[in-house]
Amino acid sequence: MNCPHCQAALTEEVAACPKCQFNYTDLGGVFGEMPTLKGALSDMPRVLSMREASKVRALLRRFDRQFPQLSFNLLLTTVPSTEPLAKYAFWIFNGPELCSHLHKGGLNFHLLLVIDIEYDRANLSVGYGLEPFLSDEDLHSMLGVASTNIEKKAYGDAIPEIMAKAAEVLHERAEAIPQVYGLRRKRRSNEL
Ligand SMILES: [Zn+2]
Repeated sequence: MNCPHCQAALTEEVAACPKCQFNYTDLGGVFGEMPTLKGALSDMPRVLSMREASKVRALLRRFDRQFPQLSFNLLLTTVPSTEPLAKYAFWIFNGPELCSHLHKGGLNFHLLLVIDIEYDRANLSVGYGLEPFLSDEDLHSMLGVASTNIEKKAYGDAIPEIMAKAAEVLHERAEAIPQVYGLRRKRRSNEL
């Protein structure tokens, strides 16, 4: 995870960035009270219809089955500031709701999708445990597939697009892992 202020890589959970001293616990002063997440899908402004919300919940359950080690959280909200959404997402991600002490550092396999319906923008953040597998470009490509629908405020279409792209990229990475670690069995000449 990078410092949302100076982009320095943060290697562990710290209250302030060691490089620029940016303190994310102060962000309450900018963003107000931290929203209480309501399970995997938190639609604070209630912009999803009941049908859309149940479709998204079904997709989140499917994601859980496909990637049992990961956890996907989705927050639709109204951000009360034009500060970069990355700062807001960082604040939520490192807040008490999402990051329990059990999931510190490399054991954090969360994905957090924040959609700000006030300024039509989205951010996708991943925990330290997923960073070796997903680059910033990957995260941008996952969001990019939905940029038109986010601009149109068609969140019921945008969210499934992002989740499908995320699942596609994660599958690609998962399939590459045995090769990365040299675990793929080599075919030997004496084998049938
Ligand atoms: Zn910094």
